[in-house]
Amino acid sequence: MKKYYLMAPGPTPVPPSVLLAMAQPMIHHRTAEYEGLFTEVRAGLKRLFQTTREVIPFVSSGTGSMEAAVVNTLSAGDTVLGLRAGKFGERWEEICRAYGVTVVPMAAPFGQTVSAETVAEALRSHPEARAVLMQHSESSTGVLHDVQGIAAATRGTPAILIVDAVSSLGIADLRLDEWGVDLVVAGSQKGLMLPPGLSFCALSEKAWGHVTASRLPRYYFDLAAEGKSVAKNEAHFTPAVSIMLGLREVLRMLDAEGLPNVFRRHERLARATRAGVEALGLELFAKASPSPALTAVVAPPGMNSEKVLAAYSASHNITIAGGQGEMKGRVFRLGHMGYVGDFDVITALSALEQVLHELGHPVDFGAAVRAAQKVFAERA
Ligand SMILES: *Cc1c(COP(=O)(O)O)cnc(C)c1O
Repeated sequence: MKKYYLMAPGPTPVPPSVLLAMAQPMIHHRTAEYEGLFTEVRAGLKRLFQTTREVIPFVSSGTGSMEAAVVNTLSAGDTVLGLRAGKFGERWEEICRAYGVTVVPMAAPFGQTVSAETVAEALRSHPEARAVLMQHSESSTGVLHDVQGIAAATRGTPAILIVDAVSSLGIADLRLDEWGVDLVVAGSQKGLMLPPGLSFCALSEKAWGHVTASRLPRYYFDLAAEGKSVAKNEAHFTPAVSIMLGLREVLRMLDAEGLPNVFRRHERLARATRAGVEALGLELFAKASPSPALTAVVAPPGMNSEKVLAAYSASHNITIAGGQGEMKGRVFRLGHMGYVGDFDVITALSALEQVLHELGHPVDFGAAVRAAQKVFAERA
């Protein structure tokens, strides 16, 4: 027997109390019991998204809400600006292409971020742009974008800012109302410590104006219809009842820890992970603004990163992730989001030492662990 560890950047481990909450017998969603559950969840989601407006859940993976954001706010023939700094940025472009929306890309080399100044400039050259599409945490490269700065650049233009926060909600600070973000998309299986299957959209007043003007076809992912039901404390279609039970528990956990502490914990875990990786002489893939959700690492010269994942799995029963698209074979990714503490990072790093040694790379045993422990020993 080898104990199993899930250390990929999503799905992430589910806390035992959440697993137990989800193991309750099924209830019907048109009952007083479900209404009580949904009332509490709606209030908790507003605190989590830092908004006074309703957050709209869908039964889907995160990409479902990305599609919902596009089809409910845009029309065929529209032009939008898209940050292209990794695989998830390309996903926005693929969704837009499927619906006849033209994306003007604002590209950064993978591992870098697109700056708020670049977005401001692109908005000046494209006054017709209806939206700016971006990732907060770009999970394929491990960078975190400046949502606050880009929101400031977008405010006062006809464009809305649509943010994919699937790997940042409950991980990095994201103030929907205060920063003037127009549409935030999230999912259940990253920072929210839940199984995959729930996604969310949260909209500003300006974004609801775009919904009224939008002409793209939609049926299941209809924000206006779903929003009306949510306002009545109902779901338009059958909700993911069990995951909602888990979500109530997660929201209680996040409230008990306090959002600022949740963000600080992730920042510290990420810093310790980076210190450990660098202590082994490895290169971080993120060259700017590393994400607190995950760390993307360049495999040592001459070593295929797929070998690193395979050794993590075969020798230690630990799942991490590889590189996506053009980064496949070059990069491996360690997740540290959600139900993660100091000793998960220590485990991932000590396993990394073992794995590199196993693959013939010289390792100063303990170097990565020592570097992480020094970060953990700093006074908070
Ligand atoms: C995980 C993730 C998604 C959603 O992917 P699904 O597989 O559809 O849940 C979207 N964006 C980012 C940045 C992600 O990390």
